[in-house]
Amino acid sequence: MRPDLLKMKEIALIYLDRSGGLQKFVDDCKLYNGDSKQSCAVFRFLILVNPADIIELDAVLGNYVLHEPVKATKIFQSVCFTAVKTLSLVQQLQTEAQMNIVLKLTHLPSLPSYVLSLCKFPFDYTTQRFYIVEGIVVAMTTVTKYTQGARFVCSDEACQFSEGFQYVRVHIPGATESATLRNDFVCSLCTSPLREDMKYRVLGDKQVVELIDNKAISAFQGFSTNKIHLRFQSFTVFLRDELSNKMKIGNRYKVIGIPVCMQNSLQETLCLEANSVHCPNITGPYCISEKFKYLLSLTSKSYWKFTAVLANSFASQVLPPGIYNNLKLAILLSLVQTTDRDDTTGYVDLLVMTNDSLILERVMNYSLCLVPRGIRHIPSSDVFPTVSKDKHGTGTASIQANSALLAKGGICFIGELSSHKKDKLEQLQSVLENRATTIYIPGKKYGEDTDQQVTLPIHTSFWSFIDMDFSSSKKHVQKDNLLIGQMDLNSVSANLIDAFGLLIHCSETPLCNPILPVSNLIFKKAIQPEEADDVMQQQFTTQDYEEFLAFSRNLHVEFCPEAESMIHGYYLASRRVRTHSMIGSNLSAAALKILIALSEAHAKLSLRTKVLEEDVLIAVLLFESSLTLKQGEKGGIIKKKHLVSHALENILGDWADQAHSDGVSGASVFCVAPNAVFPFEFNSEDSLNQRDAYLKQCHLQLIQFIATYGPATHVLSNED
Ligand SMILES: [Zn+2]
Repeated sequence: MRPDLLKMKEIALIYLDRSGGLQKFVDDCKLYNGDSKQSCAVFRFLILVNPADIIELDAVLGNYVLHEPVKATKIFQSVCFTAVKTLSLVQQLQTEAQMNIVLKLTHLPSLPSYVLSLCKFPFDYTTQRFYIVEGIVVAMTTVTKYTQGARFVCSDEACQFSEGFQYVRVHIPGATESATLRNDFVCSLCTSPLREDMKYRVLGDKQVVELIDNKAISAFQGFSTNKIHLRFQSFTVFLRDELSNKMKIGNRYKVIGIPVCMQNSLQETLCLEANSVHCPNITGPYCISEKFKYLLSLTSKSYWKFTAVLANSFASQVLPPGIYNNLKLAILLSLVQTTDRDDTTGYVDLLVMTNDSLILERVMNYSLCLVPRGIRHIPSSDVFPTVSKDKHGTGTASIQANSALLAKGGICFIGELSSHKKDKLEQLQSVLENRATTIYIPGKKYGEDTDQQVTLPIHTSFWSFIDMDFSSSKKHVQKDNLLIGQMDLNSVSANLIDAFGLLIHCSETPLCNPILPVSNLIFKKAIQPEEADDVMQQQFTTQDYEEFLAFSRNLHVEFCPEAESMIHGYYLASRRVRTHSMIGSNLSAAALKILIALSEAHAKLSLRTKVLEEDVLIAVLLFESSLTLKQGEKGGIIKKKHLVSHALENILGDWADQAHSDGVSGASVFCVAPNAVFPFEFNSEDSLNQRDAYLKQCHLQLIQFIATYGPATHVLSNED
């Protein structure tokens, strides 16, 4: 039985009237009657359609909208044309064929049959209906023009179709440019060739975007607990007109559209003609495991114990607990500062100096997998966006996301720093300083009249490391002018090192040789992968940490006034002290940013929404350790290189002495040991208490330091 077309048109009209679509259509018509005298072959109208509302009115029309969009569009086109004629809305519009109606869907039913998964094969692309696709934008072209519509007339002037709007070509979803415009059309009346009336051509904007499935991110992660093997291939989406520039590279989207097969030279590619673009909701709410809740209640009396235990037992899958605590805390702080939202956060970039890059890479690869956008950069590709020719026949410039943009809102681990070329390191430094990169698109090469510059924000924290064994074996020149605590990193530019928020020296106390326990752990895991080694390691699983981070990184934290004034006090005092010293190393404004980011991160890691002075203290200690490694002790005592390691031990010894003496008289200059956050061996409840006592001393000394050199006082008056 044929569906009753007239009835469906009636229902479409009722729907337009009730949904306010008719009023909008009438208003849109007025735009075409405005003062612009440009002749149009086609008139484009957007009609917002809620499939659920239409199904409620009439199931058959609802079915058309969802499953036979071409037929549904025809019905609405006919209704709109009748409206234009009866109400004399657009003078220039003569035939129904001149109407380009686009039904914009508000949503699709949340049923599996409407989801087109990019990793499932085969796709159903024969039924030209709406699907929803979710993915991450990995490449996009610049916006170019396409032909929305064109008017053709018969070339024989005697023929009645040599005028009028008999032959109007309108772009339909999935059509290529050649389908709309060609020179082999013939008149159906006299078979003379048709010619295009150029002054009526209507152009629209077009952009080609490549998506990958969210799950494909796991292919870029170094260490995966996820054992499923999936097929990953990028997927092309066409954005036209009002949808151009709606997507940002590196972001995640849901796209409603119609799949189409594109003939592209000899290859057939499956693409999606987008109908609407949506930002997916941030999934949640998240909750943390009972084990962490219990730990939180056990440590509720201290501001530091919870994060200490967290760091201590972190990554026990790849590292025995208790070693590299400083590094593991820094990693956790960096992870917790990542975000799913499309906004900026304070970044915690880590640069680690290590003698054992194998272990370090294991820890970092493992840690990356705990956040949705942890990307292990693959050496064969680029870190930063690049430009290449679009492969979809247009030849326009296409920007490829590469690792840094793929890691948007997450972490990009770029491996050994010196493995990157000099110009790439300069680019990295600029990105670390400005959080953006600019790419240059030469017009000539990509068929454009003008050159273009595109600036792309890079919302990513970077991790990298320097292999000390490797870099020291490369050069044989001994440095005689190193300051105490300063590391000899001459192979890497000081400005680049400075651009990383935290510099960490990954070393262990001489009491504990990390190699043996690590290899023991690896052997045990290889023999008994499922069995946990002891109670300490069984405490928290990878999943526990994953859930914990999902929860804590979404906390919204605010500074309490005391913490805020402490951070500014420390910053100003520290600047003052450093300006007066002989080294003359000023603190940059970036220093304040990293201090704020670290304080926020420590509060989040403690599952608090208020940033307290205690969080600022941890941030300051980490920051000071990093600064000592970068610049050496503030005293400016020059020591020979071979003394450096002894000097570190001496400072550590001094610190232990200072922590035990009750006075704070020695705190006029605030200086810290290289591993100021975990100065003791860490194995029992006792050492936790000992550390708390030590941190309380540090807190007092920090307050004293700010009082001496901070904003309220003057250095001179104090020296009097
Ligand atoms: Zn003709």
